[in-house]
Amino acid sequence: MAQARIIIVGGGFGGLAAAKALRNAPAEIILIDRANHHLFQPLLYQVATSVLSPGQIGYPIRGILGNQKNTTVILGEVTGVDKDRKCVFVTDADREGVSIPYDYLVLATGVTHSYFGHNEFEEFAPGLKSLADAVVVRNKILEAFEQAEAEEDPSRHRDLLTFVLVGGGPTGVEMAGAIAVLVRSTLKSDFRRIDPASARIVLVDRAPRVLSAFSEDLSKAAKQRLERLGVEVRLGQSVDRIDADGVVLPWERIVSKTVIWTAGVAPSPVAKWLNTKTDPAGRVRVESNLHVAGHPEIFVVGDTASLDQDGKPLPGVAQVAMQQGRYAGKVIHSRIVGEQEPGPFSYFDKGSMAVVGKGFAVLQSGRVHVSGLVAWLAWAAVHLEFLAHSSLRVSVFLQWVWTYLTGQRGSRLIVNHHGSAPVRVAADLTRTGPVTAVKVP
Ligand SMILES: Cc1cc2nc3c(=O)[nH]c(=O)nc-3n(C[C@H](O)[C@H](O)[C@H](O)COP(=O)(O)OP(=O)(O)OC[C@H]3O[C@@H](n4cnc5c(N)ncnc54)[C@H](O)[C@@H]3O)c2cc1C
Repeated sequence: MAQARIIIVGGGFGGLAAAKALRNAPAEIILIDRANHHLFQPLLYQVATSVLSPGQIGYPIRGILGNQKNTTVILGEVTGVDKDRKCVFVTDADREGVSIPYDYLVLATGVTHSYFGHNEFEEFAPGLKSLADAVVVRNKILEAFEQAEAEEDPSRHRDLLTFVLVGGGPTGVEMAGAIAVLVRSTLKSDFRRIDPASARIVLVDRAPRVLSAFSEDLSKAAKQRLERLGVEVRLGQSVDRIDADGVVLPWERIVSKTVIWTAGVAPSPVAKWLNTKTDPAGRVRVESNLHVAGHPEIFVVGDTASLDQDGKPLPGVAQVAMQQGRYAGKVIHSRIVGEQEPGPFSYFDKGSMAVVGKGFAVLQSGRVHVSGLVAWLAWAAVHLEFLAHSSLRVSVFLQWVWTYLTGQRGSRLIVNHHGSAPVRVAADLTRTGPVTAVKVP
């Protein structure tokens, strides 16, 4: 009899956990991802702020599953699902819409940025979701300092060195803290005409507190810490507009060349592919064992799935995705070998953490609320543990120790890939007139 074929779409936290849970299954597993690497998104902000390089938080999916003989990895983009014919459509470098049949399907395609209906903001305020995004943000931050150093009109320095983070969730808070440390330590002695420490960092959120998923005491501790690092925290203020000159709040314009969007996410188009029930955010509503209503062979896990537990929707975090992926893998395995299926999915919340600058984090786990160095050490240990490969663990650990002790960062490179115009600074440092920055045509 032919082996069952299981297609997993997405090699992120959910998809990879599902694949690993099926490592001993007598089945053919095909994992399809449009990227060739698994990405540790919780550390993306460290790539964007030059602490780590892209290769320290991403690892080839093929390499992670290299020893799993029942699993084939395909680089391609899934563009649709035919539930009745039981196949997915895949587009890769030289073929379009190839149909690949499945017996079981696990969809773990995550989320993308949401500009809350204002897609025009994207041009001026990149988000942070992929390695490419992180490099774009890193370029933007480092270029701001280069342009300010080349600019002889001091009245423009302030605008060039104003950084606005939109969104006071963990990513916005972590980015703001990391930029504050960057300007006050790493870049301190690198420039002659500007003082990087004079940079203005503004964090804006329409919510009344930062880190609103955490308890009030930890939100307060994070805000105080940000303010001690020199970050202006603007709460209860929504962003009306973002354009080439900065951000417009209800009563004020903040002039800035570097605006970073960390405010919202939207699920991948899985619900459209399946034409099924969603929650108000557009995530696919799944049954208690994570399958789609009426289709026990299709599972949706991670950020793109919606399931309530104890009357509340499960959050879009890595722990949920991993536990759901593992669970879906176990259900499919037990069906294939004819064993009893596990009971309904139940999420075990191990807690949440966010870093605020050097040596400070907030940690919430059940009734335990901790902030400061101890929370930061726990944060570092947990993040090292969940990196995809031991080589990354060693490399990130050594980089962190080096950065902690010396204040130096690993990857302060401006890397302009094909298609983006590098900024050429027409600087003649011997003359006295203003220095101008010109975009290379
Ligand atoms: C900047 C940032 C910081 C975060 N920090 C934390 C944190 O500190 N702690 C925490 O718990 N969580 C954090 N998260 C959330 C966490 O990363 C997500 O909850 C988790 O990645 C969800 O896992 P997933 O498998 O659902 O999706 P992902 O991990 O996003 O994986 C989705 C995969 O699907 C692939 N894919 C998407 N569409 C297609 C397609 N059509 N065809 C083929 N492949 C496709 C993508 O390439 C990707 O590899 C953070 C997220 C971000 C963006």
